[in-house]
Amino acid sequence: MMKFEKKTVVVTGGSTGIGRAMCLAFAREGAAVVVNYNRSKTEADEVVAQIENCGGRALAVQADVSRDREARRLIASSVDRFSGLDLLINNAGWTRFIPHHELERLSDEVLENTWGVIVNGSIYCSRVAVPHLKASSAASIINITSIAAYTAQGSSLIYVAAKAALTSVTKALARALAPEIRVNAIAPGFIDTGFVNWTPEVLEGLQKPTRLGSTIDSEDVAKAALYLAADAKSTTGQTILVDAGNAALG
Ligand code: NAP
Repeated sequence: MMKFEKKTVVVTGGSTGIGRAMCLAFAREGAAVVVNYNRSKTEADEVVAQIENCGGRALAVQADVSRDREARRLIASSVDRFSGLDLLINNAGWTRFIPHHELERLSDEVLENTWGVIVNGSIYCSRVAVPHLKASSAASIINITSIAAYTAQGSSLIYVAAKAALTSVTKALARALAPEIRVNAIAPGFIDTGFVNWTPEVLEGLQKPTRLGSTIDSEDVAKAALYLAADAKSTTGQTILVDAGNAALG
């Protein structure tokens, strides 16, 4: 039996990388999937076509989630199209590689975009989704944070701060929205999606096998998301680290 039949999922930044893997995974489990994108229209249309070709239901919606009005339009058009909402995945992220010690390179644009997409975007989407999620019998929100929130390593200082903030937002929302809506997070380790403009030297280091042998991939995150949304009925305010033990074992 499919786990998300008759359920609707919105995935922000759903056309590429981890978001794409989650869209496809939830569609395989019967969900109607809203594939949000900001710039990657071609990729979003491809994900929708792939889902529809397998008999599923999907919709691509352009919206910059760092703008409240666009986040509101995203959720409204999702609910209009599929008559309800059961799961919101705040996956959209933005960053630039700026080594932590190069503080003068943290321009206002970098500070604002990183925080705006990761923190404000997740709050904007969540608050407009809440009334619709409350009408669902099995509602949840999943925030995609990062191992950066735990190690303080990562593409930039503001990225670390934004992901740590989103970890706290996850717990605060879980407190505020219980018992109707569970709110959890997934913190991935490095996954080679092309998300960050790493230098070749840094990238080479990151691409090394993990202590579990292989590298982490987007499917691993999608499986954790399926678990949190479908099976983790007694879990809220929690983060699953999909990082091959990196944060816990050092
Ligand atoms: P990715 O393929 O580059 O995905 C980032 C997504 O965010 C893109 O689909 C992009 O959409 C979307 N996005 C950016 N700004 C947006 C905005 N203003 N409004 C709506 N969507 C926006 O990289 P990824 O690795 O899959 O990243 C997905 C999430 O995983 C991010 O939150 C990232 O921080 C997190 N993460 C990644 C890693 C990693 O190593 N890859 C590790 C830990 C956590 P457009 O292309 O349409 O702009």
